[in-house]
Formats: sequence, structure tokens, C-alpha cells
Amino acid sequence: MLQETIAENIGNTPIVKLHHVTEGVRATIAVKVEYFNPGGSSKDRIAERIIDAAERDGKLKPGGIIVEPTSGNTGVGLALVAQQRGYRAIFVLPDKVSETKRAVLRAYGAEVVVTPTDVAPDDPRSYYRVSDRLAEQIPGAFKPNQYFNPAGPRSHYETTGPEIWAQTDGAVTHFVAGIGTGGTISGTGNYLKDVSDGAVTVIGADPEGSIYSNPDNIHGYNIEGVGEDFMPGAYDQHIADEIVQITDAEAFLMTRRLAAEEGLLVGGSSGMAVAAAVKYAKTHDLDETQTVVVLLPDSGRGYLEKIFNDDWMIDHGYADVVAATARPSIVD
Ligand code: PMP
Repeated sequence: MLQETIAENIGNTPIVKLHHVTEGVRATIAVKVEYFNPGGSSKDRIAERIIDAAERDGKLKPGGIIVEPTSGNTGVGLALVAQQRGYRAIFVLPDKVSETKRAVLRAYGAEVVVTPTDVAPDDPRSYYRVSDRLAEQIPGAFKPNQYFNPAGPRSHYETTGPEIWAQTDGAVTHFVAGIGTGGTISGTGNYLKDVSDGAVTVIGADPEGSIYSNPDNIHGYNIEGVGEDFMPGAYDQHIADEIVQITDAEAFLMTRRLAAEEGLLVGGSSGMAVAAAVKYAKTHDLDETQTVVVLLPDSGRGYLEKIFNDDWMIDHGYADVVAATARPSIVD
């Protein structure tokens, strides 16, 4: 039977075992590969439900305009749904977000506004403040506010969590996810804890410099889409049993290894989450009876000119990572 729309393919993404990057770990580590969503990331899951809720609540009316600060992935999901329902979309991004990601949003028909990364969240030039101002000034504008919208974590409680439980036949013992808005870890984590009577351990992965692992040492970092410098309402601060801090270099090394050794071309936040899972499994000496599921939010295609580009990596201080993943040429 023919589908009406590609949006019907949101969710039901595969879970795949890792074999090579997990050397020294006895537990099974498996990854939920979210780039199989039609917009290419886990954020497709929240986009449709946020728009449904806004229409239901009368916040989004015919001819309305969606305005949101997003690192790109939420934008793609929102842009997909917006174009189908006749809404325009404007996305505000910090300038650290790659040109490729901006081009994707424009391709889906959205307008992109770029703001400086290195300013405080309450600076009038920050991407939060610029999007607030646009949402106030543009008539008919609706701001999904993914950082505080309860439809975000709820979509993961209703889809991602049940999928992981069913796909592992209830064998999952640990769930690992990076924390951006916190929607993924909160929704999925709460479902897995509810369905297992609290038996599933939830582990957050966080970039060094972000608030979740160390609120006293907030500074810039290069992993995109995760970590924050404030506490979003979409994040349940009690959900994580442990938060594992990962450096840019550790995340990028694992990201490159996932592509080269596991056939998984994924983004830097995915590498971060797997690096956290491996670190956790080693520190806690997890054994063969345990199954760790790690959520990989997006594809590596958006990072070809950064994490997968040796010149960019060397320029940004990751020469060791390039050396560690270099392969001798077969052709001289
Ligand atoms: N990785 C990437 C690439 C993302 O865009 C996001 C969303 N900001 C996340 C991870 C984190 O997901 P969440 O917002 O649900 O915490």
C-alpha cells in the first residue's frame, strides 16, 4: 500500500550491536540509529507532536509562522511538518553550526538566521534572545520552545522508550543518551524506568564545559547539539543515575571509529554517547548479563567538513585524534 507521506516513517529505527569500538567491555552495547528517521534525526519524533499540540491549543493557526532556535535537527523535523501543513518556518542558529546543516534547512523551504556562538544566553545577540524577539514581532508567529515544551519528552516516552523495550525483549539494563534539551533522556528514561519497575539504569552523556556534569565550570566546546549553559524545563533533573563527562577529543575519536569500524556514519553527539557508554561499562565492570542501549541522534553527513575533515580537526587541536584514526595508504 502506498504511504500518504514520508512522515509515516518517523520512529521504529533499528537497534544494532557494536563489535569493535567496545574492546575490553563484556556487556552488550547496542545503538539505536536515529538517522533512519526521514528528516535524519531523533528530532523528527518531537516535531510532529509539538505542532499537533500547538494546533490543538490554538497557538498555531492557518498561515502561521514557526520560529525556533535550533542546532538544525529540530528545524528539519519542524520544516518537514510545516511545509506539509502550509506554515512558514524561521530558524535561529549559533554560528558554530555547520554550513551543511544551514543548507539543509533552506532546502526544506525554511529561512535561517545566524547568530554569534560566543555570547551569553541573555545577550540580545544570542540565539535564544533573537528568536524571542522575532516571535514577538512577527504576526502569527508560534515558538515551539523545545527547551520547555512538554510534548518533547512526552514523544520519547510514547515512542522511543517502548521501541527500545520491545526491540530488546525487555533485556535492556542501561540506557545512555546525550543531553541537549533533555527531552530524549527524560522521556525515554522515564518510560524504561516505569516499565522495568526502576530496574533500568539511565546514564547521561555530557560535553566537558556543559552545565549537566559540572555547573561550576561552564565553557565552550565543539560537540554540537548537546550540553547547555542553563537548565531547560524539558530536562528531568532526577532522571539520570549518573552523568558521564566526555571531552571533544574523546567524542570525535569515537565518532570517527564508529564510521570506520562499525559502518555507522553518525554525528559528534553520537560518538560522545558511545564513548560515555564504553567508559561507564568499564568503570562499573558491567558483565555479559547486561545490555546497554545508546541513542545515536543523527547522521555524520552534517559533519563532513568538521569531524571528518582532517584539516579542520588539526586546526582545532585534534591532531592526536587524526593520528589515531589514520590508515596507511595502499596506493603510494
Ligand atoms: N544530538 C544532537 C545532534 C541534537 O541535535 C540534539 C538535540 N539538541 C541532541 C543530541 C540532544 O537531544 P535532546 O534535546 O533530546 O536532549
